[in-house]
Amino acid sequence: MIALLHQIPSEATIRKELRKIIFGRNVFCPFCRSRHVHRSEARYWCTRCRTHFSLLSGTWLANLKLSLRTFWALLWCWTQKVPVQQTQKLCHVSEVSVAHWFRQFRLHLPDFDPILNGVIQMDEAYFSSLSLVMAKQIGSKCLAHVVLPKPSVDKRDATEFLFQHVEPQSNLQTDGAGIYKAIERWWPVRHTVDIHRKFQFGRTSEIEGMFGVLRTFIRRMYHHTTPEYLPEYVSEFCIRFSSPEIFESPSQYLSKTLMPVPTC
Ligand SMILES: [Zn+2]
Repeated sequence: MIALLHQIPSEATIRKELRKIIFGRNVFCPFCRSRHVHRSEARYWCTRCRTHFSLLSGTWLANLKLSLRTFWALLWCWTQKVPVQQTQKLCHVSEVSVAHWFRQFRLHLPDFDPILNGVIQMDEAYFSSLSLVMAKQIGSKCLAHVVLPKPSVDKRDATEFLFQHVEPQSNLQTDGAGIYKAIERWWPVRHTVDIHRKFQFGRTSEIEGMFGVLRTFIRRMYHHTTPEYLPEYVSEFCIRFSSPEIFESPSQYLSKTLMPVPTC
């Protein structure tokens, strides 16, 4: 079935691509970094430290058991936001396996925790037992967020979020919720408010729009969410929004995440 997907290259092409991403021009030993390396078929041997290694040794894919084409197809599906159940049919692997690999892809995304400045919209959203506080720097792709393990957000949560994610002297726009009242006394921001019952929405429309897009993303891609996985889905969503180039192709994703792990 995977052979029918023209987007998935041959095993040899994938191998070549991985070698380029991991080692650049010349293969080196991931253990002692020596370039005195012999190759026999898919294995390598370092003449300096006398260690055998494979292409993926020393990366987080060192124990990959799937064929490279199945792996590549799974990664292609994930980068292109193909839903879990569609991926399962396309790649001929179990739902458990798709869930496992999609999770690995999420967990190996680069950390991205920006501090926002300029004009910022901030709001909260609720997911059964969890709360999400999110802020967007207007006119940019910068999002900051925190998932709290409780069903409501109080003023202390809101101010802590500002301490950690918003530069002093920023322009903060929120709705009229009580948790934002006189927030400028706790953190030096210029604060303006939309009063929704007076049909004011302009100052919070972008951040509220983001919550809508987030809920759709989770429903389409993962079908449902649980408190255990929601924080990961939200992080994935934010990185997809901020750094779309990582998701252009499996090669792009791997070139950002597949550095050989330093070994001692
Ligand atoms: Zn070596």
